[in-house]
Amino acid sequence: MVLIPARMSEAEEQRWVNVMLDKLAAQESRRALGDTELAERAERLSAQYFNGRARPHSVRWVTNQNTRWGSCTPSEGSIRLSHRLQGMPEYVVDYVLCHELAHLLVPGHGPGFWRLLEAYPKTERARGYLEGVVAAERLPHLPGAHNG
Ligand SMILES: [Zn+2]
Repeated sequence: MVLIPARMSEAEEQRWVNVMLDKLAAQESRRALGDTELAERAERLSAQYFNGRARPHSVRWVTNQNTRWGSCTPSEGSIRLSHRLQGMPEYVVDYVLCHELAHLLVPGHGPGFWRLLEAYPKTERARGYLEGVVAAERLPHLPGAHNG
């Protein structure tokens, strides 16, 4: 619900609503999942898409992983997600979780691996999103634009 102060003109009102909606959206995307929620999320995704067969022992965020979105150590059953995913759409985070969960079942990126990942319906969309992020980072910064 968005409360509007009394006695605003229609234009002022619209502007104010837009400002508030922007703020809400920003808060929403900044609200990062904690490690516990991340582990619960992984458990749900495993149940939903892999019949619960992927059972990680630990799922956590890491900040020392800048070239990979996620990684896993199947022998330990540990999954790590880059903190750079925080603030990205949920379906993207879920994709990276599914990807690492699938690696607990199938090592490498062979056809069997991708067949497994087809269970997650937004795989292609999420891969496109992440490719877009990487491509955008490689663009030359526009003169006069603030980056960060
Ligand atoms: Zn992989």
